[in-house]
Amino acid sequence: MSDDLFARIGATQPPAGQIALWYLGGAGYVVQTANTSLVIDPFIGPGSPPEWTRAIPPPFTAGQVGPVDAVFLTHEHDDHADPVALAAFKLRTEAVIIGPKSCVPIIKAVNVPRQRWQLLPHHATRLLGDFRVTAVPMLDPTAKSCNGYVLEAQGVTILHCGDGQYFDGFIELAKRWRFDAVCVSVGYNPPGKLFYMDEADAARAARDTRTKRLIVHHYDLWQGYTIDPQRVATVVAWYAPKTEVIAAPLGQCLAIER
Ligand SMILES: [Zn+2]
Repeated sequence: MSDDLFARIGATQPPAGQIALWYLGGAGYVVQTANTSLVIDPFIGPGSPPEWTRAIPPPFTAGQVGPVDAVFLTHEHDDHADPVALAAFKLRTEAVIIGPKSCVPIIKAVNVPRQRWQLLPHHATRLLGDFRVTAVPMLDPTAKSCNGYVLEAQGVTILHCGDGQYFDGFIELAKRWRFDAVCVSVGYNPPGKLFYMDEADAARAARDTRTKRLIVHHYDLWQGYTIDPQRVATVVAWYAPKTEVIAAPLGQCLAIER
């Protein structure tokens, strides 16, 4: 791989008043200010073919991982709490690894030293450099336990929903925070299955969170589960006409301002 995503991240200095969001595929992001870099759900492993076969390659390799301050995990599935990625971040960074209870067996299996991982229960907050991060409830019946994360820095507020599905908790979240961006997993749900938000779910999430921007991710990850983000944009225009829909661009930077 000639492109070096972490070299590009390391060479970037987001200005004051901005959070840079680098999309890693799936639900993965590097979330960066001038002083602090966090990673959420980094995934570079192989998946579980044949059902879960990658439709896109990971945008970085284990050997390219550069310095970050913390790794946040949303839930225990291996495209979110990926042992291959966790081993790389353990080896190549000083990052603390933070997640819900369901991720602990995976963190332990990778032999992350005890002082380098922490549980973050719902409604608990961690201060990390520029960031104030609060774990919030999400609805994901396919996970043993899961966290969403509210990330606040530089006057910008972002909600990362992991693989969370539509639920009434979005209304509660919007009472406490004004979101500049909400990041959600969308995908195609085969007959009889429900893994991801569909177009209407994402549109209702945009409506209920009253977010300025809806960033859709995971739409590109798995063969047979992909969805065209344009379908989401079409439906959001009906439910939440003021919300801008952005398809997270693999390996690229989105600058989020107030
Ligand atoms: Zn997933």
